[in-house]
Amino acid sequence: MKLNERGLLIVLSGPSGVGKGTVRKALFQLPNHDLVYSVSMTTRPPRAGEVDGVDYYFVSKKEFLDRIENDGFLEWAEFVGNYYGTPKDKVEEQLMEGKEVVLEIEVEGALQVREIMKDAVFIFLVPPGKKALYDRLNVRGTESETIVLERMQKAESEFSLAHKYDYIVVNDEVNNAADRIMAIIRAEHAKTERTIHNYMKMIGE
Ligand code: 5GP
Repeated sequence: MKLNERGLLIVLSGPSGVGKGTVRKALFQLPNHDLVYSVSMTTRPPRAGEVDGVDYYFVSKKEFLDRIENDGFLEWAEFVGNYYGTPKDKVEEQLMEGKEVVLEIEVEGALQVREIMKDAVFIFLVPPGKKALYDRLNVRGTESETIVLERMQKAESEFSLAHKYDYIVVNDEVNNAADRIMAIIRAEHAKTERTIHNYMKMIGE
């Protein structure tokens, strides 16, 4: 039985290379959930195997800037030379339909969402250590050495923002991290402030 009508907005963030994408995919593989992924827009060129409309909407810089101009993003950020943003209309529509919308975004964008969506849940995914992060960025093998170093430096500054989040989840093992996130989502659903209004209505108080 569901006591919340409006869906939950879940913001999954953390330093680049921590494995947000992999953990998010594992989360979606878990049974019995109502999660939908908000596909972001980016000006970064697609990596091998990435599909337009599934991994990202790949757009030109002009298209991106026009959308900023038209207030079409819930949040956006420039990250290591490219733009990334969450299209606004779709997220709002899905929340109204009672869906659980997952954003997987970097920290600057997550903090923008924090300002405007007070009831969203903010999860910061961290690596089990800095070395693990460097290894993951390197192993990905899709980026040049300069970009890996740039992303690593960026990660250093991103760590310092962990205290702004509701939850910290260590990505020691992908499935464990996904399980922990699912547990958080379930617990958030049962929170009194999200449920009391409808519960009282239901029992006629
Ligand atoms: P990548 O180029 O590795 O796919 O993504 C680079 C960073 O941008 C990652 O930290 C990723 O989570 C973040 N990102 C992806 N989509 C968005 C978005 O819509 N908004 C923001 N602010 N960051 C995003």
